[in-house]
Amino acid sequence: MIKSLLIANRGEIACRVIRTARRLGIRTVAVYSDADAQALHVRSADEAVHIGPAPARESYLVGERIIAAARATGAEAIHPGYGFLSENAEFALAVLDAGLVWVGPKPHSITAMGLKDAAKARMIAAGVPVTPGYLGEDQSPERLQTEADAIGYPVLIKAVAGGGGKGMRRVDAAADFAEALASCRREAASSFGDDRVLIEKYILSPRHIEVQVFGDSHGNVVHLFERDCSLQRRHQKVIEEAPAPGMDEATREAVCGAAVRAAKAVDYEGAGTIEFIADGSEGLRADRIWFMEMNTRLQVEHPVTEEITGVDLVEWQLRVASGEPLPRTQDELSINGWAMEARLYAEDPARGFLPSIGRVDDFLYPHYRARIDTGVEAGAVISPFYDPMIAKLIVHRDTRAEAVEGLRETLEEGVVGPLVTNSGFLWRLLGHPAFGAGVVDTGLIERNLESLTTRPEPAVGERSRAASRLVGTPGATPWASQSGLRLNAAPRRDVRLADQFGRTFETALLDEPTIDDWPAEPVTTIDEGGERFLMRLARTEGGAGGIASNGAILAPMPGKVISVDVAAGQAVTKGQKLLVLEAMKMEHALTAPFDGTVAELTVEAGAQVQVDALLARVEKAE
Ligand code: ADP
Ligand code: ADP
Ligand code: MG
Repeated sequence: MIKSLLIANRGEIACRVIRTARRLGIRTVAVYSDADAQALHVRSADEAVHIGPAPARESYLVGERIIAAARATGAEAIHPGYGFLSENAEFALAVLDAGLVWVGPKPHSITAMGLKDAAKARMIAAGVPVTPGYLGEDQSPERLQTEADAIGYPVLIKAVAGGGGKGMRRVDAAADFAEALASCRREAASSFGDDRVLIEKYILSPRHIEVQVFGDSHGNVVHLFERDCSLQRRHQKVIEEAPAPGMDEATREAVCGAAVRAAKAVDYEGAGTIEFIADGSEGLRADRIWFMEMNTRLQVEHPVTEEITGVDLVEWQLRVASGEPLPRTQDELSINGWAMEARLYAEDPARGFLPSIGRVDDFLYPHYRARIDTGVEAGAVISPFYDPMIAKLIVHRDTRAEAVEGLRETLEEGVVGPLVTNSGFLWRLLGHPAFGAGVVDTGLIERNLESLTTRPEPAVGERSRAASRLVGTPGATPWASQSGLRLNAAPRRDVRLADQFGRTFETALLDEPTIDDWPAEPVTTIDEGGERFLMRLARTEGGAGGIASNGAILAPMPGKVISVDVAAGQAVTKGQKLLVLEAMKMEHALTAPFDGTVAELTVEAGAQVQVDALLARVEKAE
């Protein structure tokens, strides 16, 4: 067994690999860029080596620096994780040439599966059913169009060098083909440096089914059953599960058998995934499942397979790389229960899934009945340089229904903030009736985008409790003056609350405070439906933030203007974002209280402002 290992990656996958290496008594070496000096993966390893500036191209993607780091620390082996250099055959070769152990398949296996056209040709030869289509020997637009017409629409144009859901265009009619081809080629050239494409029949009712395979250096190959990754957005996985809903034994045997043949055909060693596309219109049927591509590495969603099989796939990788045979035979592998994973991202579904960069001040998920794979801890920063994934939340239960429920509970009980995440989106998605019934396809999210991305308002009762916490007892803060007593009248018990998304709510205070004399909090949270709402008192009447009835936009608290989204004199509509203030580590969007024009604009991005400072004034349209 190897005794020391360098992990050529960052974030959760680096932490994941380190965890198993430690358990096996292997010394671990992390690498890190400027942006990751304080990262969890760096502190989890026995040693860490700085390899360059934040952009991956200058650090995590520079093979020579990583090999130099292994040499400098005396690491015996390199684990590439996923992404970055994991499917780079030249890097694998350089690692081997440097006399190090490569924890991955042989370089020639990576090359054989690296380009989608060559991989499909090879699979056809090995008797594996592949998605019908044209492999693109002749790349002239005329020929490609003729082939697409012959396949019949809809078709999918795919970059042969594509990955990560990029470089794909669905075309529904012959007339749209030329333009889609040109745009697909541009994206392929800029993303992958290779503008060649292939054409596939677009499978209707598509389900993404993939099979975990494992090979060793003694010629053994086994599969560890399938995963279903049909819940996708823009061809990227959102929720994954194992096994696949509705998979019967005969179909499973057929597809898993095809996966083993595929792996054997490229002399495969280590962990790999064979991805298939299935036409799920009449359930899963062996004659309607086709090879799509192979990922010659450990997959992001590998934990669901680990949960149902009880196998530590990273341990197997390290054993196989050390020359040991596979720890179990096919007969010794079986499926136990149901596992499901959700990818928690720092992104705002309500704003087109825009990545949300910033600090994760609060981060706490229940480990009791869930597995949380993460590279993040409270106080970490999600930087703009890398994938904004915060964590993978994984549950394992006896049945699928229990797994769905368990994952929803994990989202409810977990706390992450103040940056915006997709947690509520995941919670709503898991609650979708079709998903609950196991009726999945890759278009489910897109078809339900509106309802899945609309953030509900916090419930009235929760708002009242939040309002009472904000006001405190018994003395009111100046901000709560609207709730003040009026002589000879019953006290008005309403305050105006604002959340971090710029929405305001007229809210009644709790009638009977349950605790005496608690101090007012400047900000409080409501956790509901997987969402975390950051609530504060809105200062004055009107829309979000401090907006006086005359249209003056005041700073609701001291802070920094981080963006100004309008210009003086500009016409604006009610609710339109005017500027964003960062205060108390949160972003507050200040919006137009009514239709009108921006009559005054007194600040620029970067300005520090005091509470109640006039930021802008909107003049009401006649
Ligand atoms: P998985 O099937 O394991 O979910 P993905 O296709 O989502 O894998 O990719 C895993 C990681 O690798 C992601 O971080 C993704 O962004 C990255 N990735 C995959 N292919 C490429 C590529 N061709 N170029 C850049 N990044 C890629
Ligand atoms: P990548 O290398 O980017 O992962 P894939 O070939 O694995 O590319 O395809 C990514 C996703 O695109 C699949 O998971 C599936 O949702 C969709 N897809 C790919 N091929 C087809 C097809 N022929 N018909 C329908 N959907 C497809
Ligand atoms: Mg894929």
